Amino acid sequence: MILSRRGFALSASAAALAACSGGTGQYVNVYSARHYDADRALYAAFEQATGIAVRVLPANAEQLLERMRAEGDATEADLVVAADAGNLWRMQNAGLLAPTTSATLEAGVPTRLRDAAGHWWGFTKRARVIVYAKDVVAPEEVVALDDLTKARFRGHVVARSSTNTYNLSLLSSRIERLGADNARAWAAGVRANFARDPQGSDTDQIKAVAAGEAQVAIANHYYVLRLARSADPAEREIASKVAIAFPDQAGAGAHVNISGAGIATHSKRPQNALRLLEYLISDEAQNLLAPLNDEFPIRPDIAPAPELAALGAFKEEDIPLDALGRHQSEAAGIYEAVGWR
Ligand code: FE
Repeated sequence: MILSRRGFALSASAAALAACSGGTGQYVNVYSARHYDADRALYAAFEQATGIAVRVLPANAEQLLERMRAEGDATEADLVVAADAGNLWRMQNAGLLAPTTSATLEAGVPTRLRDAAGHWWGFTKRARVIVYAKDVVAPEEVVALDDLTKARFRGHVVARSSTNTYNLSLLSSRIERLGADNARAWAAGVRANFARDPQGSDTDQIKAVAAGEAQVAIANHYYVLRLARSADPAEREIASKVAIAFPDQAGAGAHVNISGAGIATHSKRPQNALRLLEYLISDEAQNLLAPLNDEFPIRPDIAPAPELAALGAFKEEDIPLDALGRHQSEAAGIYEAVGWR
């Protein structure tokens, strides 16, 4: 079942890869686990600026990893893009990413938000936040992720499946900061407060809060902003009913993850891959990405888009992001043990 689905997804996207080679004959293949409209605009701008065509093979991170493993040194992957440091770490760990560096990359990407040896580099940041129903929850009730374990929220919490990488990374960061026992107690406490079994996407959790099925949810910040500027009035209505709380501002800071990229170990066009990677942290791309996808720029010297700036400055958790990979399997085990499916 899984295999046939994967086969379908990849053969369909292999056709997409072949379909769009550029005029100069120069190209770069991107194996991408990010599927946002913003990326298409970004790659088009890169093509415009460099004449290097960007050919994208979209799949989820697990599929990309399996595919690169199977392709070995025959792979056509040049740049690999994923929307979570935990996934990038797993690709690195499988030997699929090459250490890379350049003055541009070093100058642009803060140390904490990249692999120490340069196997992957962050190019945007996202915060995992508490989304709450404005009419029934007071801001002071949701100042910390620990609040989600309190009796106050019994039967009122929704979250997506624990197998999702965003949640694996969230718990991995807690393991890194506070240890496995604390992480287990937290996961068990949140699970005990669930309004329903985990289901759906981050957006579905936000919708559940807006619909009154729950009072609080865990989601990435940009999903709220995306609903808020939707062309669909019903989606804007959903956004108007909820608010974002950046957790743990008096403590460790909000959990922040990245979208990032690394050059494939067996890339046939590493120069082009490096140009695209550097482009992702250029002024142009950083200023394009933020407003298009409501993510925070990776570069501290680039201002966030106005709707992000309107959320206010917030304190970020300060851990090296390779911790999200190092603790990933332990996090999965904890979720399973406490029954957070
Ligand atoms: Fe996402």
